[in-house]
Amino acid sequence: MRLSNSLPVLLHMICAPTTDNIERCAKVLRDGGVVGMPTETVYGLAASIHSEEGLARIFALKGRPADNPLIVHVASVDEACSLTDAEHHEVLRKVAAAWWPGPLTCVVPASAAVSMRVTAGLGTVAVRMPDHPVALALIQAVGSPVAAPSANRSGRPSPTTAQHVIDDLGNDVDVLDGGPCNVGVESTVVRLSSEHCTVLRPGGVSSDELQRVLGMPVEIASGAEDLRASPGTRYRHYAPSCSVVLCSTEDELRAMAVAAETSLMVLATHAIADLPECVVSALLSEATLYAELRRADDLQLGGILVLCDHTVQGRDALMNRLRKAASASEEHL
Ligand code: AMP
Ligand code: MG
Repeated sequence: MRLSNSLPVLLHMICAPTTDNIERCAKVLRDGGVVGMPTETVYGLAASIHSEEGLARIFALKGRPADNPLIVHVASVDEACSLTDAEHHEVLRKVAAAWWPGPLTCVVPASAAVSMRVTAGLGTVAVRMPDHPVALALIQAVGSPVAAPSANRSGRPSPTTAQHVIDDLGNDVDVLDGGPCNVGVESTVVRLSSEHCTVLRPGGVSSDELQRVLGMPVEIASGAEDLRASPGTRYRHYAPSCSVVLCSTEDELRAMAVAAETSLMVLATHAIADLPECVVSALLSEATLYAELRRADDLQLGGILVLCDHTVQGRDALMNRLRKAASASEEHL
């Protein structure tokens, strides 16, 4: 039997990060396409910052609101400096010396050449150098910075394996397989000048560490003005389909598990005794959180109970993502 149309059938897939595949993916980006890219935080959906077509595809594939700007990933400090005017280079070099490559994203005023699709018209650009050899090799092969938000459909937990990207975006992209992400939650996003540092999103680098290394007071963003400064923090985020409930003690969690009329996952940093049978227990950490939220959905569980004792409450990035997952499920109860 002959196929009636002669268009080539393009099969997208998970690719081993060989030199050939990295070169091929770099060409896809230069030609206006998008590719799934591993980083140490979460998998990104990459497009060249010089391709309006590629940048537009990121928003279309993710279902991302157009007013949510993109993080730009670079392979050198000079590339980062090329995104902003000379007066901001010193602060970028200081950040790079202390944290790059690593999970710290710096928001600085954007130079006029940076696409409005990247800045969402805010006049600023968010930039970081990822600590992953495959990401760095891809950016170098493209020859210019790449914009890469997390490679999930908007509102879903971020992907921490190549398979998660395919689960969300289907066969619309090739994904370079860099293995499971080491950090597992998104980068810390800071707005930075020579005198001020404001954390817009907690992540892999803590505010204590920022304060110590920068030697300046570090503020945590809150309020309407800061939400405008970092639109991504406004949207429903990090949420599985089932409801997520945070408990502060083992007794509270056990009582809820016993009373529940639906199948549950219990997420805690350690095993908990005396849980009803049929509850799936899972280990809680930054690196495993998103994979476990996705597993609860795959198992079609009715809810997730999370033990947030005070060791967990002291972990800013983890608590931030858990609170978002829990408040998103309240909205959907
Ligand atoms: P993600 O979609 O996971 O890559 O998230 C990117 C985050 O960085 C979102 O919260 C964005 O709002 C934030 N972001 C990106 N660019 C900027 C910018 N220019 N100013 C402030 N926040 C930004
Ligand atoms: Mg995201």
